[in-house]
Amino acid sequence: MQDLIKEMETYASENNVPIIQKESIVYIMKYIREHNIKSILEIGSAIGYSAILMASSSDDVKLTTIERDETRYMECLKNIKKSDLDKRINVVYQDALEVNLTGVEYDLIFIDAAKGQNINFFEKYKNFLSKNGVIITDNINFHGLVGKSDTIESKNLRQLVEKIEGYIDFLKYNDEFNTEFLDIGDGLSVSTRKEEN
Ligand code: SAH
Ligand code: MG
Repeated sequence: MQDLIKEMETYASENNVPIIQKESIVYIMKYIREHNIKSILEIGSAIGYSAILMASSSDDVKLTTIERDETRYMECLKNIKKSDLDKRINVVYQDALEVNLTGVEYDLIFIDAAKGQNINFFEKYKNFLSKNGVIITDNINFHGLVGKSDTIESKNLRQLVEKIEGYIDFLKYNDEFNTEFLDIGDGLSVSTRKEEN
């Protein structure tokens, strides 16, 4: 397992695959154990790095992960086979905004796909969150650029960072969810439902 993880880290750095930072995945794995998380939905599998680590944090975890890129999907399947966690990880090859889910609930939804679509992923998938579930989103700081969008020269990059800033406001002023912003790795947001009154 350790060898596979190392191998995936090397592949990711050689092929520019943006896998989660160590500090962040360590936080999520601890969260899974402490909150007795049993079912996980991940949006954005890439090569299966975070999926394999999340599923390995407890034997009780079942995980579904969605990836729309064919090369990464194939690489993900290969890695999950090698990890021997294929009985507990299900990979869906589709655009997450087009996936049709019915009759399922997840204790943890991990959003780590196209950064400009975070609000859309959140709004769609909150309907599949269990009562005390959590939605965690990666890359909330986006390489330290978030909060500095007005200084970015490249128009595409600026617009992307503005979208992430918009997502942060969406979470801050959300009627249904409370969100904690963690300055670890590339920044994580941790959103849970407000107490019903
Ligand atoms: N969670 C992974 C990294 C994911 S990188 C890890 O930490 O190991 C983001 C991935 O999301 C990319 O592979 C990209 O192809 C995928 N992606 C982006 N938008 C998507 C969408 N709408 N549906 C499914 N996958 C998407
Ligand atoms: Mg990420």
